[in-house]
Order: sequence, then C-alpha cells, then structure tokens
Amino acid sequence: MNIYVTRPSVPNLKIFSKYLKELYKTRMLTTNGKLVKKLEDKLKKKFGVKYLLVTCNGTISLEIALKALGIKRGVLTSPFSYVSTPNACKWLNLKVFFSDIEIKKYTIDLNKINQKVLNKVDCILPTHVFGIEANIIKLCNFAKKNKKKVIFDAAHCFGVKYKKKSILNYGDASILSFQATKIFNTCEGGAVIFKKKKDFLKARKLINIGYDYYSKSAIPSDGINAKMSELNAAWGLALLEKYNDILSKKRKIYQTYKKKLNKSNIKIINEIFDNNFNYMPIIFKSQKIKDLVFKKLKNKKIFARKYFYPSLNTLKHLKSKNLNISESVSSKILCLPVFENLKPITIQTICNIIKNYA
Ligand SMILES: *Cc1c(COP(=O)(O)O)cnc(C)c1O
Repeated sequence: MNIYVTRPSVPNLKIFSKYLKELYKTRMLTTNGKLVKKLEDKLKKKFGVKYLLVTCNGTISLEIALKALGIKRGVLTSPFSYVSTPNACKWLNLKVFFSDIEIKKYTIDLNKINQKVLNKVDCILPTHVFGIEANIIKLCNFAKKNKKKVIFDAAHCFGVKYKKKSILNYGDASILSFQATKIFNTCEGGAVIFKKKKDFLKARKLINIGYDYYSKSAIPSDGINAKMSELNAAWGLALLEKYNDILSKKRKIYQTYKKKLNKSNIKIINEIFDNNFNYMPIIFKSQKIKDLVFKKLKNKKIFARKYFYPSLNTLKHLKSKNLNISESVSSKILCLPVFENLKPITIQTICNIIKNYA
C-alpha cells in the first residue's frame, strides 16, 4: 500500500449525518446559515479571538485580509512559504517582494530587509511555517515603526499558541486554511481573523459579494464570493468533535519520529516550537542526501514531500533575485508522512532509511 505524506481526517459518519439531516430539513445551504455561524462561534471561543470569519479557502482569505486592510501598493513576503501567499497578492495586482529568511524560525530576516523595498510596500506578510512563530514580537515592532500592516499566513497554525494565547491574536490579521491536508479541515475552507472590528466588518461584506446581511440596507458594495457553504461547515462541526483525538494521535506519531530519528544527520525544524504535530519537516545536510533519501523511501512506496520547494523567488511568474538561504533550505527539506493511523512500523522503516542514507 502506498504511504503518502498525509491522509485527510474525516468526521464520524453518524455525527456528520446528524448535521446533514439538519440541512435536509432546513434547506439553508448557504448565506448566513446556522452552521457557518455555529462553526465561527466555536472557533472564536477555541482561539480566544473576537473577529473571525470562515471562508471557502485559505488563499482567498489572504486576499480578503489584504483588501480589508486596504493594502494598495506592495507586499513584502517570505520566499519560504506555499505559493498561495505571493499568488494571493499578485492576484490583487499588488507588487510582490521577497526578502531572504533566517534559519532559526525560517521566516523573513529583519536584518536583510532592503530599505528601497520597504518604501514600496504597505504590508508585511510572513508565514508561520509548520507552526513556527514568525518572529512575531520583533516583526510587529519593526512593522509598527515603519508604519506597515502585518498579515500572518497561519495556514499551518490551527490550535498553535504563542506566549500562552492563540497565535492568531497577533498582527493586523491572520488567515487559516481548512484544506483537506490541514489538521482541521472542511474539505476546502479557511478563516480570516482581524485585530480590529472595523476591518472585520469590512471583510464581512467583502466575502459576501458586498452585501451586509446584518444591515437593513440591501445595497451592495465591493466584494467577492468567499463564503463557506453550510455543507462544508457541517463537515467542520462534525470533525471538530474529533479534533482532540486527531491531535493526540498526531502528537504520538510526532514523538515517535522524534525518538527514532538520528539527530546528528538531520534537523527537525519545528520541534522546539509549539506546533500542532501536523508536519514532520526535516532538513538534511545536502540536497544530494535529501534526494537520495526521497528516492529510497519512494522505492518502498513511501512518498515524502519536498515542501516547501522550490523557493518562491525562483518561480517564473514571481521571479526575483537570488535568495541563498531560502533556496538552500528549500533544496534540503522533506516532510515525512504524518496522518492519524500511520503505523509505528512504517515510522520505523522511514527512520531506518534516513539512518542508512543520511
Ligand atoms: C494550505 C496553505 C495555504 C492555502 O490554503 P488553501 O485553503 O489551500 O487555499 C496558504 N498558505 C500556506 C502556508 C498553506 O500551507
């Protein structure tokens, strides 16, 4: 049987059916439905945040955040992220600038930010990669001093904490992804979280084609359709009931890897940070060793993933100057399989291959 890097979690079918029955009865399938509202309330409570909206995916959540915060010129972002991050900016015709990363938190290196670039952007958009906090305090201070907005791509951060509160409490806005491979999913889905009420109110209209269903006025303004459907919310509500179980299974897998991996040859990059155990990202000493391990795993039908690869500044449509650290990290990283029912014996096989070839 093929072992892939992930296998989406699914809710208990009985519990999901209970929500489905409700939909069959009410026929409220979208737009200000009960289930979306219920999911939002549960997530707000879980994360201790006030201003959260669920959406149809993480990428469009980035666009909504950029729009609601009035970002008009350019965005400084990290080359070591998923392509959604710069693509969302580009889709809104914003100029995208990359700055190289540092290798403690794998985020934008503040010492390397070019002043000329800084003058051209109104927003900094870092990613908390694999749950590693993107140097939050220093970055937010830097942004404040330079009068830039901060949006965090927190797609990997469901349930992740920083300084004893949800990581989603920092910056002007953060986004989550509930895409199928994320630790919590709604098949497709996402959320956007704001610090200020006024940005949240703006976004609430933006995601609903410019209509504010909390206002008596039926006059629309600017907007796109980024709403989550009631069906996706039903899935999410049902899966949420299983979340603690998923988390504890993934924690166990993560800890087994941690115990069995030979740390002299590789580095687990998110192990000293609070993370949700959804990713086991390891860095090898060279690209050659990584490619060899990747091949040997593949021979056993185990498909690790080269993630994030390549460094985003090397993509044709985003091309910018060389960024050595990001390119080097991207070339040496692999994410190992993590999913609920991954067997200890498979983890042992993976660790043996790494021990033998790294
Ligand atoms: C998954 C992911 C996204 C995009 O989320 P979608 O819901 O798939 O649109 C954005 N950024 C990062 C870092 C991701 O991993």
